[in-house]
Amino acid sequence: MNHFNDELANDLADIRAQGLLRQLRRVDSAQGARVTIDGRTLLNFSSNDYLGFANHPLLKEAAIKATEQFGAGSGASRLICGSLAPHHELEEALANFKGTEAALTFSTGYAAALGAIGALVGKDDVIVLDKLVHASIIDGARMSGAHLRVFAHNNLADLEDKLKWATQGPCAIYRTPRILILTESIFSMDGDLAPLRDIVELKDRYGAWLMIDEAHATGLFGAGRRGLAEACEVSDRIEVQMGTLGKALGASGGYICGSRALIDVLVNRARSFIFSTAPIPAAAAGAKAGIELLQSNEGEERRVRVWSLVDRLKNALVAGRWKVPVVQSAIIPIIIGDEAAAVDLTAKLRERDVFIPAIRYPTVARGAARLRVTLTASHSNEDVDALAAALAM
Ligand SMILES: *Cc1c(COP(=O)(O)O)cnc(C)c1O
Repeated sequence: MNHFNDELANDLADIRAQGLLRQLRRVDSAQGARVTIDGRTLLNFSSNDYLGFANHPLLKEAAIKATEQFGAGSGASRLICGSLAPHHELEEALANFKGTEAALTFSTGYAAALGAIGALVGKDDVIVLDKLVHASIIDGARMSGAHLRVFAHNNLADLEDKLKWATQGPCAIYRTPRILILTESIFSMDGDLAPLRDIVELKDRYGAWLMIDEAHATGLFGAGRRGLAEACEVSDRIEVQMGTLGKALGASGGYICGSRALIDVLVNRARSFIFSTAPIPAAAAGAKAGIELLQSNEGEERRVRVWSLVDRLKNALVAGRWKVPVVQSAIIPIIIGDEAAAVDLTAKLRERDVFIPAIRYPTVARGAARLRVTLTASHSNEDVDALAAALAM
């Protein structure tokens, strides 16, 4: 085998030596506040199932019904013959929910980012992206072939510098480039908020377009729980609203919401949409049930519950002299720094029946390893107290 496995063993030894080895942990239960790992029940503070929808009876029932009516698989790409009714119903529900003209769904949020960015800009264009955006956006930006400029995290002055470069620099000599700004609304590993209103002002001033990733905001922010764009009252000024159906919405898949023209261009140009089998009917139906549940009283009750748990944990952490973020989101990073120290701490927590994986490079910068605690509506006050107690030991 031409030393294939020997070479790879060396790669793995390198990764391990840096404290960066990742391994899968088999979970033998459904998502929830408790998960079964190696025959033990652990308190789970690592899921993005913020509202506890992933194992909700309404979503399961919708998924089962769709499977019975439309089958387990979808047979082909949406453009060939896989554009099943559940996908269209989901997209109508999404567009209604987000208040946009149209929506398009993808098999994952990752695929949505890759497809949308590449469909909108190319080698003569400029992408300006926040330093801390998710890997899916970085990969989409790179694959698009556009000129990339990274602005310091949430730094408006730096963003403006990059926009000036885009409008006046070498890219603008022969033609006016398209300029696409990419940011998250709630950042996935820090739980902080983008200054969306100011970013919208800037992008209008420089004639740029804005695409935001609402993966961690949809379901939690805004009066209608549509996301941070709603909370900041800028939804109708943002060209591309992206997100996932796999976090607060409890199912799986990714989406882009925006104008009819945007969606029609994506259907024609987004390669991750065109050259990929349609998501299974169960996923689409489950996500649609998630959107409906989100808009119900129960959706609001569950959001309120998440915020009250966040307050409870933050108070306990402050009392235990941990540093906590000032802003409110369901993501509470406990920054450790050293990779090995973070791994050690998660192992200790596991002995106390608490499951939180260490987040390390390349997900975050080297030396910025952390425990990323996520709270969900499935947790109880006692669960949060148990976490605080385990951290205090
Ligand atoms: C999870 C995530 C994605 C990808 O969504 P998937 O549906 O899991 O592929 C994209 N952006 C951010 C910020 C995320 O956290």
